[in-house]
Amino acid sequence: MIEPIDVADLLGHPGASRRHRAAWTLDGLGTELARVRDDVPVEADLLLESVVEGILVSGSIEATLALRCARCLTGFEQACSVEVHEMFVVAPEADTDDYALEPEGLLDGDQMVRDAIGLELPFSPLCRPDCQGLCPVCGGDRNLGECPGHVEVDPRWAALEQLAPMLDEH
Ligand SMILES: [Zn+2]
Ligand SMILES: [Zn+2]
Repeated sequence: MIEPIDVADLLGHPGASRRHRAAWTLDGLGTELARVRDDVPVEADLLLESVVEGILVSGSIEATLALRCARCLTGFEQACSVEVHEMFVVAPEADTDDYALEPEGLLDGDQMVRDAIGLELPFSPLCRPDCQGLCPVCGGDRNLGECPGHVEVDPRWAALEQLAPMLDEH
């Protein structure tokens, strides 16, 4: 949940500025392989600057990503830091990238944060650049070694095979 920032004191005072630091929790942002952890706050360190058109927001946003390797499916974490530089205006023109500012002076950064971090989410995260992935034959993690298991019969199947003749007798 991102609390709107009250910027009524800055609106209409071009040249005025203020630093704003916040810790927000952001839920539901991400994909199956890459998402923002919703139990670790997203930290924002922003400069709010009053300009003639509205409020210019710049600074950094840091989030913790929960990722899953696209090759071996191992879960891992990664810090994500993005720089923002965005305009908030009361009545944004349709053909600009400006964000909307409530007329009474409330700046809701939710969409800006989602847009900025959303661009940083990897499509196919890798636990390491040379991840070997899973063996297509036995499903074993090939990062753990030469994968000797897939040439042999799974021990659980071997046990079943020994049982099979006994089952047939009945
Ligand atoms: Zn991997
Ligand atoms: Zn294998």
